[in-house]
Amino acid sequence: MVRLITDTPQYANDIAEEIRMFLGLVPVTPDETPETELTLSATLDRMAKTATSNTVPEGEPVTVSYTVDESDPLDQKRQEKRALKRAVYALMQRIKPTEMPWGSLTGIRPTKLLRELCERVGEEEAVRQFSEVFSVRIDKLRLAATINAVQKLIIESVHPNDVDVYIGIPYCKTRCLYCSFGAEIAKKNAIDEYLPYLYRDIENGARLVRDGGYRVRAVYLGGGTPTVLSASELDALLTHFETCYGTYGAECTVEAGRPDTITREKLAALRNHGVGRISINPQTMSDETLRRIGRAHTAAEIRETFALARSMGFSSINMDLICGLPGETVGDFERTLTEIKMLRPDNLTVHTLAIKRSSRLKEQLDRYPLPAREDVETMIDMGFSAAKEIGLWPYYMYRQKYQNGNLENVGYAADSKLCVYNVDMMEETTSILAHGAGAMTKRVFDSENRVERIPNPKDVPTYGAKLEALDLSKRKLFLGENFA
Ligand code: SF4
Repeated sequence: MVRLITDTPQYANDIAEEIRMFLGLVPVTPDETPETELTLSATLDRMAKTATSNTVPEGEPVTVSYTVDESDPLDQKRQEKRALKRAVYALMQRIKPTEMPWGSLTGIRPTKLLRELCERVGEEEAVRQFSEVFSVRIDKLRLAATINAVQKLIIESVHPNDVDVYIGIPYCKTRCLYCSFGAEIAKKNAIDEYLPYLYRDIENGARLVRDGGYRVRAVYLGGGTPTVLSASELDALLTHFETCYGTYGAECTVEAGRPDTITREKLAALRNHGVGRISINPQTMSDETLRRIGRAHTAAEIRETFALARSMGFSSINMDLICGLPGETVGDFERTLTEIKMLRPDNLTVHTLAIKRSSRLKEQLDRYPLPAREDVETMIDMGFSAAKEIGLWPYYMYRQKYQNGNLENVGYAADSKLCVYNVDMMEETTSILAHGAGAMTKRVFDSENRVERIPNPKDVPTYGAKLEALDLSKRKLFLGENFA
């Protein structure tokens, strides 16, 4: 347990994330307890524009300076927070020297940060800050810069009236060991209760889009696993969507996810509605690991489902992999990549395992030994090489908290097969109107560099009961008070 003494408690959570990068998921509290193993201070001097961190009792302090645009309160917050995190990072490096590929950055969107810095201070200075101020390693800086260059056209194509639409099906066939999404196990009566709420949510969203003169840019069905719905439920849902919205915009993706939920009839329903892009997510091609992580399918089913989808005309298929799954070795991951290269998906997303608070894995870590961080980094590099071998290039990325080795997730795609929704969502360049329990609506105020969010409740009965209140909040957010 770590005790944090700070004169800026509003940044305590951000500082705690910096500490956890070094120490794992430890509790960080302002109070002294019998379990306290380390006490740190983190303080700010607004006059001198410095942040200082030290151990308690006092050791050698670390002080960093910062600059701020005084006329911009948001910038003030941002710079203060970053300075405190940098001071704590430097102190933690002294206490527990650790290789950190992304330096002191704990946020999930390094590419967004780099792009914004480039816009504000120019490319050369942005690169210097990433490297010297945030201590980002040169290969990761290059990765972020490459992705930003690839995304440029997609980001520039966003029109102020564009929205993406997300539809969430928060059900899965089984619960993965590492899952923290709170997806429920799919049961017929639960889905029967859920779908009418989702339908009403979609109706409300479509009305908002019409009233505000918005334009649908891309649609994404995620979860959970949307293909836990039957073929007729998928058909009815997409028919309802088309009746309400009238268009999918330029792209519609369905995260089919698990092969054991995919059938010819369901794929036919998706094709009949013009869905062009699906995900079939193995995570690993090792049957042993699949069993260990709680998936109810085999690698053979992944191969069969992929072949079926191809034969039915899906020309844009994504596959998700996870580096660092419990019990996996570099050799296991190499075998997975060999199989993936034979399948030749159009998109490949290579994740690093994240140990989330609410996952079973977090509770049972002693039962599931994880690969060493150096091995996970090797796997990430192997993912990059394998993607390159089959003509896929990195086009979006994000990080999650508590990833092994503090690494990243990278999406690779063949030319012309980039998923616009993924870029829009990760870079927060397009507003998202989200339907479904637990789904997050976001309004992007681009000129103010601000994003406002409205989360739908995760609990289905609560979500159903609050639908009209949520609709009103979303109408205020997107249309303004007078048009709500
Ligand atoms: S498929 Fe995704 S949402 Fe479903 S249990 Fe696994 S991690 Fe959770």
